[in-house]
Amino acid sequence: MPKGIVIIKWDDRVGPVILAKHPEKIGFDMDLAMKVYTTHFAGSSPPFSVLDIGDWHIASYYLPRDKYLFALVLDADERGDKYEDKLFAIAGKSKKLMKRKKGIVEDLPQLYSDLLTAGVTFKRSELYEKPEVKKLLEKFLDNSLSELEPTFNWDEGFRYINVEKVTGLDSIDTKVLLETLSKYRILNRKAFDSALACPNCGSFKIRVRYRCPYCSSFSIQKSNFLECFLCGTVDSEEYFSGVYYGEPDKYYCPKCEKELKGLSLDYRKILAQNKCDNCKKIFTEVNVAVQCTECDHTVKLAFAKIVEAPFYTMNPDYAKEIKRQVSSIQLRKMLSSTFKKKGWNVETPGTITGVDNVNYEFHVVAAMPDNVGKELIKNILPGGKIAIDIVEDAEEVKKEKIMEFVGKNASVAPVQYVIVAIPKLSDEAKQLLKKQEIMYCEKDREHNEIPPLIESLASIDISELLTEK
Ligand SMILES: [Zn+2]
Ligand SMILES: [Zn+2]
Ligand SMILES: [Zn+2]
Repeated sequence: MPKGIVIIKWDDRVGPVILAKHPEKIGFDMDLAMKVYTTHFAGSSPPFSVLDIGDWHIASYYLPRDKYLFALVLDADERGDKYEDKLFAIAGKSKKLMKRKKGIVEDLPQLYSDLLTAGVTFKRSELYEKPEVKKLLEKFLDNSLSELEPTFNWDEGFRYINVEKVTGLDSIDTKVLLETLSKYRILNRKAFDSALACPNCGSFKIRVRYRCPYCSSFSIQKSNFLECFLCGTVDSEEYFSGVYYGEPDKYYCPKCEKELKGLSLDYRKILAQNKCDNCKKIFTEVNVAVQCTECDHTVKLAFAKIVEAPFYTMNPDYAKEIKRQVSSIQLRKMLSSTFKKKGWNVETPGTITGVDNVNYEFHVVAAMPDNVGKELIKNILPGGKIAIDIVEDAEEVKKEKIMEFVGKNASVAPVQYVIVAIPKLSDEAKQLLKKQEIMYCEKDREHNEIPPLIESLASIDISELLTEK
C-alpha cells in the first residue's frame, strides 16, 4: 500500500515547490522534493520512474511541459510499476484541477483513493465479490463474451468497450480491472497491440519527425549529394543541375560555376543522405523525435510513452472456480425471473429501510405492487415484500458466515426474509436460523431449480390478484 502522494511544481525562481500532499503528515520535505525533482529534471529520464532516495521508495510521474511532478510514496517492498497508468491519469486530472482558483488541495484525497485501487491486492474471494468482476465473468460463462480485444481511436487510445459496457467502469478502471484479473490468472493475457503517446499529456495525436543530430533542427532534407572536387562544395544534386545554363543533362557547380565533366574525375556522388538546412551538416542517421500535436511537447522517440493493449481471454484452467463463484449470480437471476413472471416488482440487489432508519441491501427484493391495495397486501403478506440473501461456500455455509445476516431480519420486519444457502448449511448454522426464526433453504450446485420454499413464496400470483379485484 502506498503511504501518500505529493505534488511538486518547479518554480523558476525558487526551485521545487510542494503544491499539495496527502496525508498532510507524510513528512515529505523540500529537501526531498529537490532530490526527486532533480532526478527527473537532470536526466532525460522517461516520464515515469521508480526512485529510491534514502529510505524513501517513490513512484513518480513527471509532466515536463508543465513541470509538475506527482510522487507516490510507496512501502519499501512495493513494486511501483503497477501505478504508472493510474498515476498518469491522475496527473492529467490534477493538471486541470490545479488551473482553478482553489487549486487541488481539497480534491487530492479523492484522487489519491482512486489511485489506490490500482495497487490493491485482493484475496481471491474478495475479488469475486466485486460487482464488476461478477458481471464480467457471467458474460464469459454464458459465452456472450469470449475474447477481449482492444479498439483504438486517436482521441482516447485503446479501449475495451465491451467490458466497459458490461462493468459500467470508465476506460481506465476497465484496463486496471483486466490487468488485475490477469494477475490472478482468471484471464489469460497476450501481447496484442501498442501505440505511442505523448508523455506530457497522454495524447495519441503525435507526429514522428526527423531531427538534425547536431543542432536538433527539423529542417532536414533527404536527397543525393554531389561533391565538387574543384572547390570542395557539397550540396544536393538539384543545385548542380545545368538547367540554369540551358543544359539540363550536365552538372555545374553552384559555387565555382565550373562544368563538372566526369564522375570520380571532378565530382563524386553521395547517395541518399540527409542535410540540415540550419547547420548545413550532412549525415546518414537522423534523430527521430515525436511531437505532440495537442500540447506541442517534443521528445526523443525512446521517451515517448508506450501504451500496451493486450488481448484477454478467460483462463480455462479456472473455469470451474469461476463457475462456482458465479452460481449465486445465476441463482439471483432465476429468483428474480420467478417473481417477475407472477407480477411482482423485483430489484436485484434491492434496498429496504429498516426500523432503525438504516438502508439494508439484499440480493433480491420482491415487492407487491401498490395497486394490489393496502388492505389486501396486509392480509396476504404483512410487510408487502420478500427479501432474499444468497450465501455461499465451497462445502457448507458455517454459522460464522450467517451471523452478519441475522441482524438484518429484526430490522426490516415485518418484511419476509429468506436466506438461500449454496450448497448447504452446517447444523450449527441451521440451529441459529431456527432460533432466530429466519426462513432458509438450501440449493445444490448441480440442479438448476428454484428451491421449493421460494417457489411457494412466489406462488402468490399478483396478476391474478389484480384481475380478481
Ligand atoms: Zn502532449
Ligand atoms: Zn566547385
Ligand atoms: Zn543541424
